[in-house]
Amino acid sequence: MDTLEIKAFAKVNLGLDVVRRLENGYHEVRMVMQTVNIHDTLTLKRAEKGIVLTTDNEALPKDEDNLVYKAARLLMESCRIEEGVSIHLEKRIPMAAGMAGGSSDAAAVMKGMNTLFSLGLSEEELRRLGVKLGADIPYCIMGGTALAEGIGEKLTSLVAAPDCFLLVAKPDIDVSTRYVYENLDLSAIEKHPDIDGMVEAIREGNLHGVTERMDNVLQSVTERKYPVITRLKSFMEENGACKALMSGSGPTVFGVYEEEEKAKAAKEKLSGKGLAGQCFVTTFIPKEEGYAG
Ligand code: ATP
Repeated sequence: MDTLEIKAFAKVNLGLDVVRRLENGYHEVRMVMQTVNIHDTLTLKRAEKGIVLTTDNEALPKDEDNLVYKAARLLMESCRIEEGVSIHLEKRIPMAAGMAGGSSDAAAVMKGMNTLFSLGLSEEELRRLGVKLGADIPYCIMGGTALAEGIGEKLTSLVAAPDCFLLVAKPDIDVSTRYVYENLDLSAIEKHPDIDGMVEAIREGNLHGVTERMDNVLQSVTERKYPVITRLKSFMEENGACKALMSGSGPTVFGVYEEEEKAKAAKEKLSGKGLAGQCFVTTFIPKEEGYAG
């Protein structure tokens, strides 16, 4: 096999709690992660030497600042690959959005190269390597519905979350994850999200049990700086969503709908308001079955 095309899916956080700040500057978190059907596409080709990255998005770096490049180099070095690889990235996932776009691209490159070069790494081995590049990468390698603990790398795969439709809206602002964590005052959090209750509701297939527990401790930090987030959430909840929440460190907001028609109608109505440049109606997607590397 010389060429391989692979999709890199975005995620949302159905629940996000920060437990404590660690001495190394990272944060201990408890998050319920969910893959959604919005994806970048990566085309990997075996080449003679080196790493060549091209992309349809002019705003992205094409050198080692891109997580795609870093992931390719990490695999080449740790598996002593003598050949090279050329990678084309078609970018569709909103950037600096709280949807783990860069991490998902890196995860896809690692999975893709594992197949392309017949490296034989297990999913767990890939996850152990991936965390060196970013805390969300192990989850992006796993995919589906999962509980993420530690800095995000301690993963428990869950049964697929109940079916529903999502309206995903990314306002035209870029949010720095670093800014949000630096401005998070852990001592001021009065009520932490009920992550265990949400995991239970997922196991029971109880969509309302999930939506009533949707909560994100980073939301108030980002909302304070960008009131558009509050407006988007209110809009969605006034327009048919069971619940709306900011994903990750933001600014993307997603609303959970039981009916596709209602999500589509809300998207249509939202498009005239100028609150979000990028909007999608999408669904959850489950973990790929039978991942064999
Ligand atoms: P997270 O949810 O993990 O915080 P995010 O959605 O906030 O991720 P990304 O879009 O993954 O953020 O990346 C943010 C920054 O990382 C971008 O501004 C970009 O310059 C840089 N970057 C490096 N590689 C990539 C990539 N392959 N795709 C997107 N951004 C990348």
